[in-house]
Amino acid sequence: MEIIGSPERMRALSRELRAKGERLGFVPTMGALHEGHLSLIHRARRATSRVVVSIFVNPAQFGPQEDFRSYPSNPERDAERARLAGADVLYNPAARDVYPPGYRTYVAVEGLGTTLEGASRPGHFRGVATVVAKLLGRVAPHVLFLGQKDAQQAVLLRKMIRDLEMDVEIEVCPTVREDDGLAMSSRNAYLTPAERRRAPAIYAGLRAGVAAVERGERSSAAIAALVRARLVRARLQPEYVAVVDLTDLLPHDRLPPAVLIAVAARLGRARLIDNVIVRSGRVRRGAVRARA
Ligand code: AMP
Repeated sequence: MEIIGSPERMRALSRELRAKGERLGFVPTMGALHEGHLSLIHRARRATSRVVVSIFVNPAQFGPQEDFRSYPSNPERDAERARLAGADVLYNPAARDVYPPGYRTYVAVEGLGTTLEGASRPGHFRGVATVVAKLLGRVAPHVLFLGQKDAQQAVLLRKMIRDLEMDVEIEVCPTVREDDGLAMSSRNAYLTPAERRRAPAIYAGLRAGVAAVERGERSSAAIAALVRARLVRARLQPEYVAVVDLTDLLPHDRLPPAVLIAVAARLGRARLIDNVIVRSGRVRRGAVRARA
């Protein structure tokens, strides 16, 4: 596995590989790699012939009060994990190369970036769309691999790619969970042992929402109230519980055919997000067990 810091080297290598007819897969991450990230690398390994993983903690997607400075980081362990999972290239650009002095250009996907996570974290998706657009320019992959864990991000980036006519496919991979249902996240490291024991309430709440849909409940508000109650009972502080249309991320009184139930909740120092998708009565929880 080659570790690349220089944007010029990344571009040159990508050109070289494409010229040889390789199919490039790209997995962008912020590091602190866990089984969720590794599942994307494994999938990219199977679906493409060369896999580029990026690690970049993107300052533009963090708010002033957020955890940019304390975001977990372990470069040596990440490099080893990425290599073992099958990455061919680890691209690790410096912030000054991504946002050099005088940098002024940002990408905003209107409408999709200001609800749910975007309402809780103003400017977050402008930062996400900008960095992904820039990384796609450098890496020039054939396929971009994203996690369902960040459902809104996937919807928004799909729209950006379509609107800006970028020549890349997207594949969204299922959420990898701990055995008790907690979605894997770099931010789970912030939980104390006592908080960690309460954290599975998030997925339990989402499953309760799915069960309500399966029983025939069609009121978005009733489903959201039920999920919220499960979180509150476990003494989590829900920031939002959204029951929205998967395509436009907007709420509807009656359930649309493809529904995203998405949650953000605070638990101690951690702010955790998770979601499930329910399609016209059929359930796709996106649950894949991590290998032990
Ligand atoms: P992050 O490092 O949090 O920016 O995440 C990098 C990529 O990994 C994004 O596409 C995430 O959606 C994906 N990801 C994060 N956690 C998980 C998980 N538990 N299961 C699957 N994909 C994940």
